[in-house]
Amino acid sequence: MEKIYMIPVNDAYSAECDCPVCALRDKAESNELDYYLGPSLMEPDTRKITNKTGFCPDHLGKLNRREANRLGLGLMLHTHLKDVRDDIIGDIESSIPGKASLFKGRSSDYKAKLIAAADKIDKRVAMCPICDKLNESMKHYIEVIIYMYLHDSEFKDKFINSKSHCLPHTSMLLRSAAKLSQNDAADFVSALYDNNKKYFDPLIDDIEWFTLKFDYRNSDKPWGNSKNAIQRAMRFLASDRGEFDEQQSKNGK
Ligand SMILES: [Zn+2]
Ligand SMILES: [Zn+2]
Repeated sequence: MEKIYMIPVNDAYSAECDCPVCALRDKAESNELDYYLGPSLMEPDTRKITNKTGFCPDHLGKLNRREANRLGLGLMLHTHLKDVRDDIIGDIESSIPGKASLFKGRSSDYKAKLIAAADKIDKRVAMCPICDKLNESMKHYIEVIIYMYLHDSEFKDKFINSKSHCLPHTSMLLRSAAKLSQNDAADFVSALYDNNKKYFDPLIDDIEWFTLKFDYRNSDKPWGNSKNAIQRAMRFLASDRGEFDEQQSKNGK
């Protein structure tokens, strides 16, 4: 089992957070964002990749919000745009249907061409080296978490006592547990279940209290844990979304 993944996994499960896998993901993503805005941006090998891939809409937004290297981001976008233009503009042009004529009649060939040009654009817009690397890292992290749960009793306790696992990461853990022997899967998934179950009810109550606070009769009553309940609920449902946290800071919490 790869040691380089064990240390961050242990750290994430030792820290106070709502989902340790989200913490691992956030850290890995932050490293990738720093990497692509750092000196690597000027390296020909990296540029060869980013010229081809660009970044997905989600990561373009995150790179933009980082504001660490506007010049680098501009240079990267400049050469990427040229690459995309050269690749797709011809497809858009050749997808222009010829006008139907009295002699040639109507044809539906143009429909497939239009769809093919659209598919190609969608594929290029979705390409992202940060997503690729994150998917790879998360696969390793999930495997390591399960391995450590089964082989390291100290870690097992940490896992059992962790606050929760968000739903997307619960799904990843369940999927990975499907590769275990029946007894190992029984042991691991029952801990995951307990952990999930104990998070749902208080979260539902916190969200409800958040809504009840809008009633003037409750306005003087304490918030309890409800102040950031919306953010926690969204994170629990959807794992990472940078904008959830931003809203949190706008409200001054
Ligand atoms: Zn998570
Ligand atoms: Zn991405």
